Amino acid sequence: MITHFNLEDRHREQRAAVREFCEEHVEPHVETHEQNGTFPREIVERIGESGFHGVPFPTEYGGAGDDYRSFAITIEELARSWKLIAGTVSGASCLVGYPLAQFGSEWQKDEWLRGVATGQTVAALSMTEPEAGSDAGDMRTTAEKDGDEWVINGHKVWTTNGAVADLIVVVARTNEHDDYRGLSLIGIPNPVEQDGLEIVRDIPCMEGDAAVESEIRYEDVRVPEENLIGEEGRGFRYIMEGLDIGRIGTGAQGVGVAQAAFDASREFADTREQFDQPIREFQGISFKLSDMAMEVESARLLTLHAAAERDRGNRVTKEAAMAKTKATDVAMDVATEAVQIHGSRGYSEDYPVERHMRVAKGMQIYEGTNEVNRIVISNQLYE
Ligand SMILES: Cc1cc2nc3c(=O)[nH]c(=O)nc-3n(C[C@H](O)[C@H](O)[C@H](O)COP(=O)(O)OP(=O)(O)OC[C@H]3O[C@@H](n4cnc5c(N)ncnc54)[C@H](O)[C@@H]3O)c2cc1C
Repeated sequence: MITHFNLEDRHREQRAAVREFCEEHVEPHVETHEQNGTFPREIVERIGESGFHGVPFPTEYGGAGDDYRSFAITIEELARSWKLIAGTVSGASCLVGYPLAQFGSEWQKDEWLRGVATGQTVAALSMTEPEAGSDAGDMRTTAEKDGDEWVINGHKVWTTNGAVADLIVVVARTNEHDDYRGLSLIGIPNPVEQDGLEIVRDIPCMEGDAAVESEIRYEDVRVPEENLIGEEGRGFRYIMEGLDIGRIGTGAQGVGVAQAAFDASREFADTREQFDQPIREFQGISFKLSDMAMEVESARLLTLHAAAERDRGNRVTKEAAMAKTKATDVAMDVATEAVQIHGSRGYSEDYPVERHMRVAKGMQIYEGTNEVNRIVISNQLYE
């Protein structure tokens, strides 16, 4: 693998700026939201006001017009402070913002992309169904044309931020093909006010109560025909393209969580004493820290490599899958070791490392499980 990522001063400045922002506007509020189980809308809006929400989108639609290395660095730093917020920004940008930017109509860009790029619109992608997870092409949700409207019927699970979204993009079958060729993307603005759209429940999950993972039923939900994003029957392709970027974002989330777990462990090992010495002086602990540091750095390099290749205009299906898989596996491994280094404290909610371990598991599952991403990588090895 040849790496060309050549970080520039502005990338380092972006990292410093996002870190400063997080210290001031994110970290002081994490515990409150986690304990109260509240979605941090005001933080999302503030991220938008600071220009960190729409990093890769054109300035004419409220984005920063920056590159994917800046995007990856931004998401990494947000995740280092709070994975939930990084996942919200990354998911909205890549799974909703990217298809809108690439394939949306002019008014969709004006109305919807602008909101996503500026953090004023919480956006969600509603794709996974009870019977169609990894096998996404098997989706059953339909959208039928009735006059100048689409009528949507189906059942979705794990729509992140669905219950708090201002815009849901639903993936639905719009023609006779029973595979990926039948799928289209349709925008549903103000979803909770839509007749026929029912938030069945927030799925209780390992990430905790602040995470919004919605199960949604669509029963004769009607939206205007112009809410179709791009061409009819091309939705699956659009999502796959978005996932090339999304997996850079998820890789960056993995790096950020791993870095946070490592930082906490490094500090803890320096201050916690047993047998009259800091535990970092035991080789059993210091070697763990060495391995964790190596893994975090390798995950970061792979993620920045994927971002840089994208910045060079290359297709990054393999590179992004590698970054996502490696970085989220690293996050899981590093967070698990972080809990071990903290001993009983690590197992308690008094320290953040147990949260890092919980959220790392989710990252290994979403945006293609790491098994599915390994299939994506292996499919490209002989090309
Ligand atoms: C925290 C979180 C957030 C999510 N956010 C969203 C969201 O915003 N929008 C959305 O639409 N979905 C979302 N999802 C859903 C996610 O995309 C799916 O969970 C994922 O695609 C896997 O589908 P599944 O859970 O049905 O597992 P299944 O597909 O049933 O897989 C079960 C197991 O079988 C393995 N497996 C399946 N097929 C293969 C194969 N061919 N080869 C080898 N192993 C295989 C999987 O890797 C997994 O280990 C989210 C999930 C989580 C956990």
